[in-house]
Amino acid sequence: MHEGTGELDLVIVGAGFAGIHMLQRARADGLRARVYERGAGIGGTWYWNRYPGARCDFDSFDYSYEFDPELEREWVWSERYPSQPEILRYLDHVVDRYGIRDGIQLNATVTAARWDEASGRWVVTVDGAAGRETVTAKWLVLAVGALSRPQLPDYDGLDDFAGLQLVAGDWPETEPDLAGKRIAVMGTGSSGVQVIPSLAQIAERLTVLVRTPSYVVPARNHQVSAAEYQELLAGGAERRERNRNAPLGVHFPSYGPSAKAASADEREAAFQSAWDAGGSAILSAFDDLLVDVESNELLAEWLRAKARGIVRDPAIAATLTSQTYPVGARRIVIDTDFYETFNRDDVDAVDLNATPIARFTRDGVRLADEREIPLDAIVFATGYDAGTGPILAIDIVGRDGRGLREAWAGGPATHLGIQVVGFPNLFMISGPQSPSIMANVVKAIEQHVPFLADLIAHAEAHGVRTVEPEPAAAADWGAQVDGIAQILVHSRATGSWYFGANVPGKPNAFLAYAGGIPAYRNVLADVEASGYEGFVLAKAGETSEG
Ligand SMILES: Cc1cc2nc3c(=O)[nH]c(=O)nc-3n(C[C@H](O)[C@H](O)[C@H](O)COP(=O)(O)OP(=O)(O)OC[C@H]3O[C@@H](n4cnc5c(N)ncnc54)[C@H](O)[C@@H]3O)c2cc1C
Repeated sequence: MHEGTGELDLVIVGAGFAGIHMLQRARADGLRARVYERGAGIGGTWYWNRYPGARCDFDSFDYSYEFDPELEREWVWSERYPSQPEILRYLDHVVDRYGIRDGIQLNATVTAARWDEASGRWVVTVDGAAGRETVTAKWLVLAVGALSRPQLPDYDGLDDFAGLQLVAGDWPETEPDLAGKRIAVMGTGSSGVQVIPSLAQIAERLTVLVRTPSYVVPARNHQVSAAEYQELLAGGAERRERNRNAPLGVHFPSYGPSAKAASADEREAAFQSAWDAGGSAILSAFDDLLVDVESNELLAEWLRAKARGIVRDPAIAATLTSQTYPVGARRIVIDTDFYETFNRDDVDAVDLNATPIARFTRDGVRLADEREIPLDAIVFATGYDAGTGPILAIDIVGRDGRGLREAWAGGPATHLGIQVVGFPNLFMISGPQSPSIMANVVKAIEQHVPFLADLIAHAEAHGVRTVEPEPAAAADWGAQVDGIAQILVHSRATGSWYFGANVPGKPNAFLAYAGGIPAYRNVLADVEASGYEGFVLAKAGETSEG
């Protein structure tokens, strides 16, 4: 039996990798479940980020579900790294394959959710195409994505600008006509690095506004024939096993324990080998790159030298290599022709740290040195209100009328990144303080979904009314999350979005569990084996308040 109208067992918010998998499992478990999705299509990140050049930065096999070997065998990826349209086709296939499309309501934004103590249910408000709807459910799962709420800069004069303003993370479904236009791209993170080479090919002139340059390594993307993919599948089981034991959820070779302890020749060989292999492999070239600042700086300088070797204009090269943070402390970016693009005569870079923006005008942008850059379009690839942003956009009110915004005023506080004290039966997939953005996110999602589905099934089978974390367990988890972050070079870049620093007023707190996918799997396995230690599972008449 599937859902009726207003009464459900489970409401899931979001139809990306997380929400789709959760719905598939919930249906398999016989729950009346429904997904509400703000977008007009499924796919989450891969629905919204349809900008030219959008592509995943993990190999396609590694960035796909592994919960069903049949699904794994029947889908053949066509490139080393999947492009946005191909990922969307894959997710469409998944939704149809498991017959769950009728459980997904599109154009439906969850605006509020209130815990009703008397009924032991969540009362969920949904703004949809047909107006406002209220549904209730015993269980509420937020699969809203860590990077689904674009963060836009607030510059004077943007309202005056007469040209087109585009946001990478909210790209129009109808491709805007940018051919022959004078375009500025603001942002050189993953999205900027992908969109810049694509737009350079069609723009009359492209100006890149650089605030925080990334460390950029070549992707080395290529087509994969069906025969090659079958070969890869033949070794799939071993590859999955290696990935399961890798902190990122994707295995990359290591050439030694310490970059600084290696000889110059060994270091050069290791870095070059990882550079030639392409992708994020270079961060794993030595085991201490993300924990030892000196080793890290050896790699950082090696990467800057590579960039200087490609970009011919010394001033542009200096702008693109002016990173002041350790490599890996912000997401390393993989590219196709990013640095090469700056060798075109019609592409320029502006160092906004040296020459800030004074204001936008009707015709373009004016810099602090009075220079005016005439523009027809601006593309913002300026990142996200990560982790907490999409969750706090919903007005969530838990036990005793306490809001989540109030509960998290000092930063996210969770148990395992899954639940919050005072918010019974509310779960997050890939939420703050879970591996999420510190890993291959699909692998992180595939840890949460079975754990949550099993927990809900266990609760239903044992007549449990509410599930909620113990405050002491949650406090301990928060301390672990912060403690691990302190060990990493990330703690030297507290001005990054990993700490929420890109959003004015956001508390400075590390947003993810950085202990790695294998360690986190062990934590979840221990919790499940212990009968959900750290959580209070209360039956009717009992209290779940720890
Ligand atoms: C440009 C870009 C590139 C990325 N590349 C990689 C990569 O290479 N490797 C990697 O591991 N990860 C990558 N990520 C992270 C990516 O988000 C995850 O890999 C994964 O797609 C997340 O799936 P999800 O289902 O958790 O969230 P999402 O895909 O973000 O889906 C969440 C959905 O929830 C919906 N939603 C949010 N709030 C509400 C609401 N209140 N009501 C209704 N619907 C709501 C959103 O509209 C969205 O569709 C990338 C992210 C971005 C933005």
